[in-house]
Amino acid sequence: MNSTPAKVDSACPVCGHNGAVLVSTEDRYGDSLRTLACAQCGLYRNDPLPTVAQLKAYHEVEYRKSYKGRREPKAKNVYRSRRLAGQRLAALRRWLPAAGAVLDAGSGSGEFLAALKGAGLSPQGLEADAVYADYARRQYQVPVMDAGLLEAEFPAGAFGAITLFHVLEHQPDPIAVLERLGQWLAPGGVLVVEVPNLDSLNQHPAKRFHFAHVLGFTPASLALAAQRAGYAIQASSEANFGRDLQIILRQQAGPAPVLDTPRPLVTSGQTILAYYLRPQTYLRFLLRMKQFLGEYLATR
Ligand SMILES: [Zn+2]
Repeated sequence: MNSTPAKVDSACPVCGHNGAVLVSTEDRYGDSLRTLACAQCGLYRNDPLPTVAQLKAYHEVEYRKSYKGRREPKAKNVYRSRRLAGQRLAALRRWLPAAGAVLDAGSGSGEFLAALKGAGLSPQGLEADAVYADYARRQYQVPVMDAGLLEAEFPAGAFGAITLFHVLEHQPDPIAVLERLGQWLAPGGVLVVEVPNLDSLNQHPAKRFHFAHVLGFTPASLALAAQRAGYAIQASSEANFGRDLQIILRQQAGPAPVLDTPRPLVTSGQTILAYYLRPQTYLRFLLRMKQFLGEYLATR
């Protein structure tokens, strides 16, 4: 992997540092995309970072490419999403309130909202994609606000818990997003954040970068983002062979965190050969084949 010190004129959106290392010039499809790693906190970021308006335009083009006028998510995706929603709810149950309002920010096609409703909670969705928001409302009879994270309005302290699954890596200003969510959290409420783990050795080194994933978090840079937005970490875990990171947060007033000395990138020496020599790579492949077969049989 390339690891040239890069000349940058932008600051890291988590720690504010200007120094960075150029780690990749291609995305997972081999198209041109510059990715930097912050020399201070280790956060990966696309260079230049797209604006919210550029990301919106990108998603509209992608949407037209992949949906071709269909108004529904694919059956196999819904099936997968339902299973995942059940697993997530079971794992998070002890952190969620026994009753009351829970916000799923970036609620997609709504399967986690349906799971919350099934558990006796009052779900609220927030989804920037109008088609998905509409699907969730019709399919599961759950309320979904159709808006971006920084455009949405909810009363202060409205939710006993907020979940944010695979959303933060799409946000050019993650601190602003986490602070915004904090305004909607009731005192003592929890915020659950899950993102891809860019430190995972079970991720193909050449497939980590994507235009729409504008940031790439590691355990250290995710923890720092949470602390800078005014949260304390209550628990953290990894899932999916360490490829996903999850942290449970509560708001905590206190001094701003002190930055540690720069740490080397965990995966900076990882090669594609090393990836293919890991048994986990093949175990994961077999489990995925089993999953695809199950999805095929269940949805055909
Ligand atoms: Zn940084």
